Amino acid sequence: MRHLLAFFLLLSLTLYYNIAFSSNLKVVATIKPIHSLVASVTEGILEPELLGYATSAHNYILKPSDASNLESSDVIFYVDDNLETFVQTFAKNNKELVQLSKAINLLPTRPHSFSRKITHIKDEKDLHIWLSPENAKSMILSVSATLSNIDKENSHRYNSNATKAIKKIDQEVKEIMKELNDFKNQKYIVTHDAYQYFEKYFGLNHPSAILSIEEDSYIGMKSFMKLKKIMKEENIKCIFAHSQEDSIKPNALSNDAKMVVLDPIGSDIEPGKDAYLAIINSIAQNFKSCFVVSVQRCGLRDNR
Ligand SMILES: [Zn+2]
Repeated sequence: MRHLLAFFLLLSLTLYYNIAFSSNLKVVATIKPIHSLVASVTEGILEPELLGYATSAHNYILKPSDASNLESSDVIFYVDDNLETFVQTFAKNNKELVQLSKAINLLPTRPHSFSRKITHIKDEKDLHIWLSPENAKSMILSVSATLSNIDKENSHRYNSNATKAIKKIDQEVKEIMKELNDFKNQKYIVTHDAYQYFEKYFGLNHPSAILSIEEDSYIGMKSFMKLKKIMKEENIKCIFAHSQEDSIKPNALSNDAKMVVLDPIGSDIEPGKDAYLAIINSIAQNFKSCFVVSVQRCGLRDNR
């Protein structure tokens, strides 16, 4: 009797496992937003791995577990060879390396306003592609096409998940669009040129100045005075910083404007299929939080 029970328990567990994850494919994604898009396509079929450590999309320290994940994977989804420079070292027979930037119309990087070094290579492309929901949808289709091709048995499920995920992005993005609608004329400064896909998609203004804190350890006095002048002339009330660290450096400007940190890879957001929209939403809310305050401030001044 006990044996029979154990047998049925095992059988039901096996059945459950087969229903829950019906593919043995091992899929790895490099950064959280990409992992989220992949997870939305593989929902109920397999669980993609996310690499363990990235403080920003530009700053990878691979852990031993990341290396072994990459080593043993069948498919690696990543942004671009120029961003995740380590990926090609894991190229092996039969391993599929999917560079998602190939599915996107890449924009050129924008010149930094006060850079002392000429670090930008001619024709350098902006690789923060996931920050446009339009690009996210293209990437979802690319993920779905790749997996359907390798794992034909589940192709209809990948496709239907992809359709569902795209629909969800369309719905939620419409809401975000409405929320940002009042702030399209607001002027601002960014400390890292990461947001042009986001800005274009949601119709925000082009930044009045793009700083490059990660390249210049400080802003020289001449540039600083020039920046203050621009801020005064254009009535700039918001500086969007890339991280807490670089938000400290232009702190000298904090009397003139509010400093808000934007997080393009969602460091504090739970990974998974819902992370992508949470990342986009948090960037939108952070833009808005600064714009709202600055609109109120201007309003107060006008009333005086
Ligand atoms: Zn970046």
